[in-house]
Parts: sequence; C-alpha cells; structure tokens
Amino acid sequence: MAGKQILKMTINYHKYLALLSELRLRIESLKLYGQPYVSATEINNPLKELICLAGEDVEEEIISKQLEAENQSSSKLLLDNEPQSGTELTSNHKPPGGLKETLNQLNGDSLDQIGREVAKCRKCGLAKTRTNTVPGAGLSSAKLMFIGEAPGADEDKQGEPFVGRAGKLFTNMIEAMGLQRNEVYIANILKCRPPKNRDPEAVEVEMCKPFLKRQITEIKPRIICALGRVSAQTLLKTKSPLSTLRGNFHKYEGTDLLATFHPAYLLRNPAAKKDAWNDLQIIMEKMGLTDKR
Ligand code: SF4
Repeated sequence: MAGKQILKMTINYHKYLALLSELRLRIESLKLYGQPYVSATEINNPLKELICLAGEDVEEEIISKQLEAENQSSSKLLLDNEPQSGTELTSNHKPPGGLKETLNQLNGDSLDQIGREVAKCRKCGLAKTRTNTVPGAGLSSAKLMFIGEAPGADEDKQGEPFVGRAGKLFTNMIEAMGLQRNEVYIANILKCRPPKNRDPEAVEVEMCKPFLKRQITEIKPRIICALGRVSAQTLLKTKSPLSTLRGNFHKYEGTDLLATFHPAYLLRNPAAKKDAWNDLQIIMEKMGLTDKR
C-alpha cells in the first residue's frame, strides 16, 4: 500500500513538473508576444489539470501573470522594429508592429482587433489631445481603399473618418464613381487628430504606420487612393510634390496606388475638383466602373 502511494506521488510529482514547465512557457509567451488576457477557461487541458493539481493559488498566479504581461506588452515587444533614418525613437516609443504584427498575421488579424488596439494606443503624444481614435471604416474586403493623412476636428469628435463638410464632398466623389461609402474602405495614416490639424510629425507617422500596414494587409485592396500630399508622400516614401505624384499609378508594396487631392483641399480650392475627377476616372477605368454623375 505504502509502495503504491509512493509510486502515485512520484508520478504526480513528475506530471506536476512537466505541467509547470508548460505553464512557464505560456507565461513567457504571453510576456513576449503581448497576447491579451486569456481566461482560465481558455487554457488547454494540461494547464487545467495543473490548476486542479495545485489548487487556486496557481490559477491566481496565471491571472496575475497574464495581467502583468498585458501591461508590459506594448513596451517589451517590437524589438525588431528599426526606426527609419531621421526619426528619433525612444525605448518607450517602439512602433506597434514587428513581432506582434507577425504574430497577428500568423494568427489571423482582423480590423476589429486593430481598432481595439488603436483605441488603447498611447504610443505618441496625440493620445493626450485626442477625443476619439479614428481607426477607419468600410468594407473589410474592399477593392478600393482611400487613405488620408489624419482625422480632423469632426472626425475626432465622432470617431469616424471623413465626416463634416469634407466628408460630404468625399462621399459625393465616391458615389460619382458608381460606388457607395460602405463598398470601399477609408482610413488615415494617423489614427488620432494632430492639434489644430497641423501636419503629422515624422515620429507620429512612424508610431502609427504599423496599424495602417496591418489594415492594408487585412483588406488586400486592389487599388489604394492616397488623398493629399502627406498620405501620398508617406506611402510612397518620397518628398516629391503631389503635383508630380498624381495622375499616374505607383506601387505601394505591390498594390496599385494613385494619389489625388484631399477633399479638404478641394473645398478650399474648388478649381482643382476637375483634376481630382480626372484622377478618379483613372481608377474607375482600372476597376471597370462607369461614370454615375
Ligand atoms: S496617432 Fe497612432 S500611434 Fe499615436 S496615439 Fe494615436 S493610434 Fe497611437
């Protein structure tokens, strides 16, 4: 009897060690990859078994480690993101991409997930002045994706891209192409409003760009339309003026990109609407759309 008890204790002891080792790996993985909180019910059977073996103390430990990992994730991850030259980044300001981006892609990213991360993001100073984040809106499988530079006052208030007067003009432009707003995807380079609608700073673009990159990866648009100078120059990594960029297709990581005027610019310069319409017609031709004006 005593021999059997000793044998059972020995087996349990080794099982316990193996499970502890797996638990440690999972906690390290949570710390490293910044996975969000995983409830005990989502933990697989061996770990549930460990919880049964070790009692509530272990469960509390798992939960506290997960919460700790969640808090540390944003500053600990992303060590594989190198800032571009001319941009100074501190260790507290690593872009929200890199290892986490790769893991998200492996696990299957989603626009909702990106939106949730944007809502919590405090990677640059705009987090202090924003009212709402504006991650983007539209069809997740859109063939055409519009990308502006940053939310303005109306967008910041409503958390939606391209609203207000410029948004109305923009909607008219989309409808003139024979499309509806909910058939395209609309996003910005920055997800938070720069104060007084100033141009985005290089460091803000660098911090925020991984979100847009993930959105593009997820949507896989056939064509990207860059709205305005900042968007076109950022996506095409050039300092060339918009006047030389618009009117022809360029490539953004293999996707056709056409640059045109930002709707807010068109409100201030109505004479440029004709040129903008010419640009949109180039896109329409490529997409096989007919003029709906
Ligand atoms: S602008 Fe982008 S990087 Fe900066 S706080 Fe907003 S979401 Fe984060």
